[in-house]
Amino acid sequence: MNYALSFQHMSAILPKTDIKELTRDDLILWLKLRDIKPYRANQILKWVYLQQTDTFDVMTDIKKEIRERLSHHFSIKRLEKARIETSQDGTKKYLFKLGDGKYIESVLIPEKDHYTLCISSQVGCAQGCRFCLTARAGFARNLTKGEIIAQVRDVAYDIGDSKRLTNIVMMGMGEPLANYSNVVGAINTIIDSDVGLGFSSRRLTVSTAGFVPKLSALGRETSVNLAISLNATKNKTRDMLMPINRNYPIERLLKACANYPLMPRQRITFEYILIKGINDSEEDAKRLVRLLRPIRAKINLIPFNTFKECRFERSEDSVILDFRDILTKNNYTAIIRHSKGQDISAACGQLSANPIPD
Ligand code: SAH
Repeated sequence: MNYALSFQHMSAILPKTDIKELTRDDLILWLKLRDIKPYRANQILKWVYLQQTDTFDVMTDIKKEIRERLSHHFSIKRLEKARIETSQDGTKKYLFKLGDGKYIESVLIPEKDHYTLCISSQVGCAQGCRFCLTARAGFARNLTKGEIIAQVRDVAYDIGDSKRLTNIVMMGMGEPLANYSNVVGAINTIIDSDVGLGFSSRRLTVSTAGFVPKLSALGRETSVNLAISLNATKNKTRDMLMPINRNYPIERLLKACANYPLMPRQRITFEYILIKGINDSEEDAKRLVRLLRPIRAKINLIPFNTFKECRFERSEDSVILDFRDILTKNNYTAIIRHSKGQDISAACGQLSANPIPD
């Protein structure tokens, strides 16, 4: 068998690498190995992220020969939009089909003067939170860096009106800190204003179920906002609701939060779902006040969103208001967040990426 020939043949049939998987330094190295000047990397990436091009042949300031080599090795992938649903409140849920046939969802939420995009970090989720539909189907795999970036790049491209996409939250499917290096790699491109998508890191929030081992690294390596899904004030309750608590109990989680580096006016957001009879008592509110004392915190209260075959119920409105009042009386900013997009199962905890509509 002629191996040289068969390798050549293989490179023609192997899938090309999505260029979004590379950092600028990776690309510079690739170019250098082919005697191409490093400044070309900036030109190429500006086309990919600022001009949002889909092919290399439109990169007119780059020599044809280089463009051909690039398109031989790389692709500039978009995610396949399998379905887009629009809620009565304007929220849009994107179902994306990935290269290997798996599905994820991203949610575009219209606010008064801007859009917020909620993106996924994994296909499914391994954390098993009892109140979250994403947990039901279990975990399939981590998203690659390129797939995380693509959710932002593609939806930004898709928005055809003047309202601007400014805020990004990693609160979709998956646990971002369990896919740490791809998430941080994607963040670096999303916030790069020179050769990336140019979003402000002040308006990018990473939400975690409490994956303690990666918290301090996130604080050191990025300046994004941190949100913690706390959801309970006693280990017994949190163990039941969120199995991750058995490994990283409340005290350990809050100690890591107290040590988390914050900018002068920055605070950590604590998300607290209110579930009837489980975590919504007056004692819970008072315990929450005490627990958060050592931390610069604000609190988002999320009335529980229900889904099929779920035994939990949403707390009564009066209970939610009383809970909020205890927090505000103790000088916390506590906001009740009614999730949008409930009619299309796009609200917090309702993402299942099921290609067959209900
Ligand atoms: N794994 C990360 C990212 C997912 S964020 C994390 O846990 O933070 C999803 C957010 O939605 C979390 O704050 C979670 O507490 C909340 N959530 C999950 N299921 C919910 C439900 N059924 N109703 C309301 N909020 C829910």
